[in-house]
Amino acid sequence: MTDLRVNTPPKPLYIDLHIHSTASDGSLSPREIIKAAEKVPLRAMAITDHDTIDGSAEALQHSKSTDVEILSGIEISADFESGAMHLLGYLFRLDDVRLGQVLEVVQKSRAERNLQIIQRLQDLGIDIDYDEVSEASGGGQVGRPHIAGVLVQRGVVQSIDEAFVTFLRKGGPAYVERYRLSPAEAIKTIRGAGGVAVLGHPSTLNTKTEAELDKIIAGLKGVGLQGVETYYPSHGPVRTALYERLARHHGLLVTGGSDFHGAAKSWVHIGFGSGDLRIPYRLVEDLKQTAGSGPDPVPHA
Ligand SMILES: [Zn+2]
Ligand SMILES: [Zn+2]
Repeated sequence: MTDLRVNTPPKPLYIDLHIHSTASDGSLSPREIIKAAEKVPLRAMAITDHDTIDGSAEALQHSKSTDVEILSGIEISADFESGAMHLLGYLFRLDDVRLGQVLEVVQKSRAERNLQIIQRLQDLGIDIDYDEVSEASGGGQVGRPHIAGVLVQRGVVQSIDEAFVTFLRKGGPAYVERYRLSPAEAIKTIRGAGGVAVLGHPSTLNTKTEAELDKIIAGLKGVGLQGVETYYPSHGPVRTALYERLARHHGLLVTGGSDFHGAAKSWVHIGFGSGDLRIPYRLVEDLKQTAGSGPDPVPHA
C-alpha cells in the first residue's frame, strides 16, 4: 500500500509556450500570467511578447516562487511579403548584448510608426493623441491594438475589428509600414543568444499549397530554423497534422502555445487555447536538448 504522506503530487502534464503580457499587447502582467498558469495548472510556460523580452524577464524573476517552470521567450515579427511571419525564440540568454541591440532598433521603429499612424488619423480629422494611446497600453509597448482601443473609446468605430478594417489594416488609410528584421536576421539573433528559433503559427504565412509552405520552411531551415509551432488554437486537426508532417520531414522540433492575450482575445485561455489545446511537457525537453546541442553552423545572412 502506498504511504500517502510521502507522496508528492503528480506534476502537471501540460505547457503553454506562447503567451503575451502587458509588456506587449496582452492584458495581464507577467505575475498575473504566472498565477493563471498555476491555476490551470501548467508545468511550464513562456511569455513571448512581440519584439521585447521585458515580460519574459519579469516572469523569470518570479521563477523561484512558483512551481511553473518558466522559459525565456520572445516573438519577433520578420519581414515577409504575403502574410505575417512570426519567429519565436526560447531558452535564450536575456542579457545577450546583440539581442538587446537588435530589439532596441526594432522598438524605436515601432515607436516612430505609432506616431506616424496617429498623425495620419489626425490628418483624417480624428481627434486622438499619443498620450491616450500610451495610457491605453498600460505602460507596456504601444501598438495598433491600443490605437484601435482608443478609437473604440472615442466612438469613432464600434469595435477593434472595425478600427483595423477601416483604418489600421495593411494598406488602410492610417497604415504605416515599419522596419522588420529579415527572417534570417531574426533567427540569427535568437540563436546568437543561445536560444532556439521556431516558426510561429505557419497559418498566417497565407500559403496556398503544401509545396509552397514546404519551400518556405526549407528556406528558413537553411538559415538556422529549428522548430515549427504546430499546436495552436486556430490550426485544427488537418493543419496540425500538416505542420507535424513538415516539421518531421525537415528534422525540426514542434512546439505549441495558446497565443494568450487576455481581454483582447477573451476566447483564448492560457494552456487550453479555445478549449481543446493540450501541449505535452516533453516538447520542453526537446527544446532544451536542441538548445544544449551547441551552435549549428548558421550561414551568414
Ligand atoms: Zn504571432
Ligand atoms: Zn503571439
